Amino acid sequence: MYLIKSAKPVLIDAGSSGDMPDLVKALSAQGLKLQEVSLAVLTHAHSDHAGLARKLQRAGIKLALGKGDVPMAQSGHNDDLKPTNLTAYLLKHLAIDPKFPSFTPDILVDDRLDLSPWGLKGHAQQMPGHTPGALVVHLDDGRSFVGDMFLGGYLGGRFSPSKAGEHYFHADAAQNLRNIQSLLKLPIKTFYLGHGGPVDRDSVMEAFGR
Ligand SMILES: [Zn+2]
Repeated sequence: MYLIKSAKPVLIDAGSSGDMPDLVKALSAQGLKLQEVSLAVLTHAHSDHAGLARKLQRAGIKLALGKGDVPMAQSGHNDDLKPTNLTAYLLKHLAIDPKFPSFTPDILVDDRLDLSPWGLKGHAQQMPGHTPGALVVHLDDGRSFVGDMFLGGYLGGRFSPSKAGEHYFHADAAQNLRNIQSLLKLPIKTFYLGHGGPVDRDSVMEAFGR
């Protein structure tokens, strides 16, 4: 989860269903109450990114989600995770709770969502790959929030968090890789990730550039 400060503060992602105490504490450290957050943009509807979405919505926060992930959000269950390696296979079967409180987003991101109504120079853009409705948030200052398009470091970012690498699961791994390569053509300086990171452009180029 990331907080983007503005006149109408925006959260990127909504953590797991048990993350409310940590979120409230983190917001309070920034001088904010939960109700002051205006919008949560979900990079996708996996349980560790959208688990808290329904509680946020009930607190009055609008939810934006890529159109392709609406069925997952409404089912309250991850799609069938397709492991990219052995660690991923073990994680899938031993560590990941695929269920979360179902929800219906307030704002659907079909192609692009301009974020200027929330006081931000930037936009969200749907880029299916990791999930059918995965989206990225680009800010004009060179920051991009790309969810689980790739990982930073190992074991969820506990080691070498600033080193870009392959994520554990993708609905469409080949399309996800094309997404990363198309992002490398944009003037992005820093990539903010769901697990590990942030990662600078050179590290992404080293891991995924051609
Ligand atoms: Zn994910």
